[in-house]
Amino acid sequence: MSTVITTRRNSSIEILNLGDFLLDGGTMFGRVPKVMWERWFAADGLNRITMATNVMRFVKDGHTYVVEAGLGRRYPEKSWEIMGTSPERVLTVDEPVDRLVLTHLHWDHCGGVHDMEIRDRVYVSRTEWEDAHGETPLSKGSYRAEDLEVIGKRLELVDGPRQIADGVAILPTPGHTRGHISVLIDDEVLYAGDLIPTSAHVHLPCIMAYDLYPLAVLETKREILSQAVQKGWTVVFEHDPYRPVGKVAFEKGRFTAT
Ligand SMILES: [Zn+2]
Ligand SMILES: [Zn+2]
Repeated sequence: MSTVITTRRNSSIEILNLGDFLLDGGTMFGRVPKVMWERWFAADGLNRITMATNVMRFVKDGHTYVVEAGLGRRYPEKSWEIMGTSPERVLTVDEPVDRLVLTHLHWDHCGGVHDMEIRDRVYVSRTEWEDAHGETPLSKGSYRAEDLEVIGKRLELVDGPRQIADGVAILPTPGHTRGHISVLIDDEVLYAGDLIPTSAHVHLPCIMAYDLYPLAVLETKREILSQAVQKGWTVVFEHDPYRPVGKVAFEKGRFTAT
């Protein structure tokens, strides 16, 4: 399934779901109890909820850009079982890509690098690249050496906020990981990766147990969502299978996706 957004500056942005997989609902919603999150995401008998891998594709200055690479197809049998999917059900970015931007390097965001043709470069934040090579016990299992090896061949490290093309801005959005980045197109379409993985996560207390720095997520989310409301940004929700894009409103003291 794909959605196309056209910006006021006439950029055509395609949102593609490269495949659904299952994650533990409790982990996705952190301290929010199941009686709450179950209303937004139905759980299976193993408490798992369906997550999408929505990636974004567009052309700027003659270059094809893709943000995120999806799951990819390189997992052992046991992982497929846990994820509730199979290699046949995972799509890949089938046309060559000039530039790939990765919000961070967790396997569900960059595993697809093995299955795509990258002609030019891959943008990754320097902090993320360093942390992906670190030995933090909580990060073990989130990063895979084989992904980093492929990315390393085309790597361009990004420090701080940066304009990588006319109308393509990279914004540091720390919290899920220290080096997590988001992408803003034409000051209008925001791709926030695991900062706001689903439309339900615009609700500030929805902070994943996967988030390494929960208070930083809270602060970054508050800041980014305030801007989204003020500027009328369209937000892409990377893991939301039901609502891949939406706007954000602030009503009665809380953020909601509309
Ligand atoms: Zn992640
Ligand atoms: Zn993720």
